[in-house]
Parts: sequence; C-alpha cells; structure tokens
Amino acid sequence: MAYVIAQNCCNEASCIPVCPVNCIHPTPDEPDFATAEMLYIDPDSCIDCGACFDACPVSAIHPDYELPAEQSIFGEWNARYFDGGAVTYSAVSSSPPRRSADAADGPLAVAIVGSGPSGFYAATELLGVRSLDVSVDMFERLPVPGGLVRFGVAPDHQDTKGVFKSFASTLAHKNFRFFGNIEIGRDISHKELAARYHAVIYAVGASSDRRLNIPGEDLAGSHSATEFVAWYNGHPEHRDADFDLGVERAVIIGNGNVAMDVARILLSDVDRLRTTDIADHALERLTTSKVREVVLVGRRGPSEAAFSGPELFGLGRLEDASVRIASPEHYPSAIQSGAGSGRMTEAKLRLLDDLHARPEEHDKVVRMSFLRSPLEILGTDCVTGIRLSHNALVTDDNGSVRAVASDEVEEIECGLVFRAVGYRGVPMDSVPFDDERGVLPNVGGRIVESAGGPVRTGLYTVGWVKRGPSGVIGSNKVCADETVEALLADFAAGRLTRTSEVDVADELSGVVDKAGWRAIDTHERNLGKESSRPRVKLTSVEEMLAAGGL
Ligand code: NAP
Repeated sequence: MAYVIAQNCCNEASCIPVCPVNCIHPTPDEPDFATAEMLYIDPDSCIDCGACFDACPVSAIHPDYELPAEQSIFGEWNARYFDGGAVTYSAVSSSPPRRSADAADGPLAVAIVGSGPSGFYAATELLGVRSLDVSVDMFERLPVPGGLVRFGVAPDHQDTKGVFKSFASTLAHKNFRFFGNIEIGRDISHKELAARYHAVIYAVGASSDRRLNIPGEDLAGSHSATEFVAWYNGHPEHRDADFDLGVERAVIIGNGNVAMDVARILLSDVDRLRTTDIADHALERLTTSKVREVVLVGRRGPSEAAFSGPELFGLGRLEDASVRIASPEHYPSAIQSGAGSGRMTEAKLRLLDDLHARPEEHDKVVRMSFLRSPLEILGTDCVTGIRLSHNALVTDDNGSVRAVASDEVEEIECGLVFRAVGYRGVPMDSVPFDDERGVLPNVGGRIVESAGGPVRTGLYTVGWVKRGPSGVIGSNKVCADETVEALLADFAAGRLTRTSEVDVADELSGVVDKAGWRAIDTHERNLGKESSRPRVKLTSVEEMLAAGGL
C-alpha cells in the first residue's frame, strides 16, 4: 500500500519535509521542480505513514485503496514518474532547517503589498523565523484578502481554494495586521510606505493580460481570459463585464491552464457550478448560455502544449462534453508528435488520445486544435470568426521549439474569442518596472533599478510580479522562501533601516482589518449555508465594506 498524489496537487511541497523517507519528488532543490506539473509519491518507497496526507493543504493525497476510481490514472502517473529508477534520491528526509535570523534579532517591520498566496507565503515564512522579533503588515486594495485564490482559481476547484485555510494561523498571528481597502499609491505613497518599514515586499500579482496585436482584437465579442476569469470569480472591477453567451461556438487562443479553466466553465453543467462559490451574476448568465462548442487553439503541438496533465484530466471529466482533437494531423495518436518527450508528457498525451477515442458523443464538445496561430479576428461590428495560420515546428539552437506559420490558413466561424495567452504585471509609481517582461526587475526577489542595475535596498518582490505568470498556487511558496531568505540576509547584514516610526494604523482611515475581514467571511459563508454553497461572494466594494462594519 502507498499514498498517491492526485488531481488537486498545488506543488506547495509542504508534504515533502514531513516525509520520513524522502519519497515525494521532485523536491524544490531538484531541477525538475521548476517545470513539474505536480508532485509524485514513489509507491515502492512509501512507508504508508500518512504524514503527507495530514500536511497537504488541498486534499490532493489519498491512500491508494481510497483513491477515487475516476482518479486511478494518478496511481499510474505517480509510479510512472519513478519508472525503472528514472529518479534517484537518498532516503533521508529533506526537511529544511528552520530559519533563524542570525545576527539581527529585530525588531524587523515588514510591509507586504498584496494578499494573494505569494504574499501570504512570505508572511508565514517571516513570522516563522525562530527568535526574530518581526511584525508584518499586509496591504490589499480590495476589502478582502486572497488574490488569486479568490479571484483566479476556478470555482469548481474548491479543494485548491482550501490552501487559504493554511494561512489561518498567519492571519491570526499577533504580529500580523491586515490593512484591506488600502491602495498603495492612492491612500499612502510607495515612498511613505518604504520609510515606515525596514522592508517592503511587493506581491501584487499580474492583473493585466498579454495582447495578440492582430486585427479585430478589439471587436465586440473578443475578450481576454483574464477578464472572464475575474468576472466569474466575482472581482468587483469586472462584475459588470458583458459576455454574449448566446452564441454556439467560442474560440480560445492559447492552451495553458487558464484556457482549460475557461473552456470548462463555459461548458460545465450549471447545476454543478451552483454548488460552488461562482459569482451569482455569472451563474445567472451561464444558465442561459447557448455555447455548445469550444475550440482551444495552441500554436505548437500536443507535446509542447502548456496545459498540465491534471487540467486535461479535469476537462475529460466534464459530464456532458466530449473532448476531441481538432487538427487532423494529430489524430488518431497525439503521441506520434511526442517523439522524445519526457515520460510525464507522454503520459499526458496518452490521456489526450484516450479522451479523443472515447466513443461517447455529448451535446457539447471541446475541440483541441494544435499548430495553429491567430492571424485575424473576423467581423465588422462584432466577432463572426477567426483566421488561423497552420504552423510548423522549428527547434532553435538552444533546444526550444518554436511555431512558424506556413502559407496554409483556415477560418473558423465563432461568436466569441478569448485570448488566454498569459498575464502581465502592471507598473506602479516609484517602483522599477520591466515593461518587456511585465514584472518588477529583480534578482532572487531583491528589486533592482533595471535588469543588470543596482539593488533598490529594502524593496523585494514575490509571486507572478517577480517571476512572471508561471507555476501553480504552491509554486509561490518556494518563490516566497527565496525572497524572504534574501530579506533576512540583508537585515542580518545591517542593510535595512526605517526612517519613520509613524504607525500607518494612525494615519490611514477606511481600513478593513482582521476583524472586518472575519465579519465579511462569516457573512458570505452564512449566505452560502442557505443554499448549500461554500459561500456566496459579495461582488461590490460597497457590499464588502458594509459587511465589514464600515
Ligand atoms: P501559460 O501557461 O503561459 O499559457 C499561455 C498560452 O498562450 C500557451 O499556450 C502559449 O503558447 C500561448 N501563447 C502565448 N502567446 C501567444 C501568441 N502570441 N499567439 C498564440 N498563442 C500564444 O499561461 P496561462 O494559461 O495564462 O496560465 C498562467 C499560469 O497559471 C500557468 O503557470 C498555469 O499553469 C497557472 N494556472 C494553473 C491552474 C491550475 O493548476 N489548475 C489553473 C490556471 C492557471 P506556447 O506554449 O507556445 O508559448
């Protein structure tokens, strides 16, 4: 018997240090970790102690005898990762030493701007440092914390949202304060903030989207996936967005995990969504949706596709939609184009083939099209179709595989286009910004004036605005650990000072504090109880402030 990691794995890796035989891989210090879609347990070495099961924040780990039948593929995938000794490791626990602050034992005052997972992981790491007198103030422009967990994770992935529970002890910590409804740059300047703390960590995420820069991109009916995701998740700034779901076919450009989320939400059984915390306005609109077909357009082949195995698995579980490969050169076997791909990519391609080969026909369908790039979104007043080039793949000298357009084109009729080609950070006053990459320029989390430039002492960054929009929720933990390590080293070396002793709590008004957030949280959960949902989200700032007692 062994434990198995299944669909919800968030890569946080808190299961790894608790494993007494080091059988969970890849670990953060192994090269595969940065690109791993999930973590795996070696069934031959697992001693069945259950420590990982208790540590997992998103309920992704199951004893093999309790693995739900429909998730049995994850038993195979866990074993496959270690197939034939493909991964070697020492059976000694890789538990990291608990940090201590060495030379400087405080007081250290840190501000964290942004309350998503990367900000919370950084706060948790700082507050856990042994023998350090540290206080953390977290600032969030909305009245509610959560960032990507609340506004990014799809509503049908409630277990993933469970990661927020692991931040409960941080929220409750006596040295942690929450300043919701406070926007840096509006309520207090970046410079004032930097003066009041030894260090400021920017954890503001990537709230904007990349553009395609093709004709027709701004036609009615052409949207960014970013906007759609924020809309169905009840983000106050997107609740009034308008999506015409009265059309039969939608095309999504890009085939990363955001594209998969959008496809799933468009085609999900509404009764299933009704049991989640999806925003009420989205539920209402989806109830009358006419969308029956979603075409996912990837510019490269199945082997290079950005979606993860667990997300493809999720797409295959849609109750009344079939998954079909739409580019004829890729069926009957997607695997044929996967020559040389790694063993986990091959496992993912096998799943794709299986889904394509399933005989059931449903009323709805997801068509996965590969080696196609958008040339133009067609229409006069609104979207009526999309023109795509057929691509070939070229391998560069550095080994990266690029799509190159051929002369062959195809047109698909559709009434909706979503571009899901990645997120971008947004610049802030007085803080350096790398406009090309859409991130804060940094070296290992220390913000620098520009790429290759000097360090801006006391300013740090974590999460998507540090490294770009990559990885899954738990990837932010390793990212935050690196930044906190740099911050603590700078503090121990005496490089961090504060020039003002003013307490921001005395100068800010309209703050939703911890008690205010608890009141909003309780209110939303109580509303949810009435309809057997985890919560009913408030979607306007005014409603949130009222529930928070302001
Ligand atoms: P992503 O994974 O980077 O995918 C972007 C997609 O857009 C890729 O298919 C990319 O193709 C394509 N693309 C980029 N530029 C393009 C262009 N000019 N023309 C055509 N296609 C273009 O980004 P994402 O889907 O926004 O996800 C962001 C991060 O969030 C990822 O790390 C993702 O794993 C994570 N996430 C995870 C989950 C989950 O675990 N459940 C859910 C949602 C998001 P190429 O591959 O060829 O570059």
